[in-house]
Amino acid sequence: MSVRVAVSGAAGRMGRTLIEAVANADALELGAAIEQPGSSLLGSDAGELAGLGKNGVVLVGDIRAVTDAFEVLIDFTVPQATLANLSACVAVGRKIVIGTTGFSAEQQAEIEQAAASVQICKASNFSTGVNLCFKLLEMAASVIGDDSDIEIYEAHHRHKIDAPSGTALSMGEVIAATLGRDLGKVAVYGREGQIGVRDKESIGFATVRAGDIVGDHTVTFAAEGERVEITHKASSRMSFARGAVRAAAWLAEQPAGLYDMQNVLGFQHE
Ligand code: NAP
Repeated sequence: MSVRVAVSGAAGRMGRTLIEAVANADALELGAAIEQPGSSLLGSDAGELAGLGKNGVVLVGDIRAVTDAFEVLIDFTVPQATLANLSACVAVGRKIVIGTTGFSAEQQAEIEQAAASVQICKASNFSTGVNLCFKLLEMAASVIGDDSDIEIYEAHHRHKIDAPSGTALSMGEVIAATLGRDLGKVAVYGREGQIGVRDKESIGFATVRAGDIVGDHTVTFAAEGERVEITHKASSRMSFARGAVRAAAWLAEQPAGLYDMQNVLGFQHE
């Protein structure tokens, strides 16, 4: 039997791609599509919005009106909307896949608290390739991390509203955890002026916002005489949507708790 899912932020860039990915997934069926209450697109057919032709699922502005129509919510919106949708899911015991990025520490704590009663899969990046890169970064950090200067570069389209990207921060966290460093203390976000000599322990972040770049990330480990670069380039949002859809099908079978894409792919956390 297929798992019924809802997509929140259904008219957004990721939302439309998610609707297409759900339509292409045998294990899932679209039960509801949600947009923000003021959207001029409320009442539109979700399939038509995604360029697939009518599918009979109409965009609604209030998740509480459709909680009977899905088991798992896939939410790629903005932090405030995700948290409101999360509390609606907790109230009626629905599972949630969270792709939204840019949460504050307090908002992240709220998500962790909710995971005591519902299944949550949250990832800053749902693409399989990026999650593989997280494992490669662990390996690189443990072999050459202490002998290298580590810098993380990310580039995204001009509409992205948070920086650095959630993926870049996750990469920094993976590396810092492997090296026993506290990212909060060693991260350097951008440089300008008389910055002095580089602190050996620091992990630098550089952000570019331009055009329609879907998502590029490169981590450089620069040592004396050589450097290793681990790069991922997304060329289509479908890479994230396919991962989120896979996570929704996987989450349907799990007990309450907070999971990420590494769990979905069966990678062991160190
Ligand atoms: P987007 O095109 O702006 O889409 C967000 C959508 O959410 C918009 O249609 C927005 O409507 C809608 N929305 C706002 N408030 C809402 C509410 N209360 N209820 C329902 N929908 C609401 O942005 P995007 O590029 O798709 O990205 C969305 C999020 O996903 C961002 O945080 C981005 O960083 C993240 N992302 C994550 C991954 C990953 O793999 N984890 C990959 C790509 C993107 P309005 O436009 O009318 O405000």
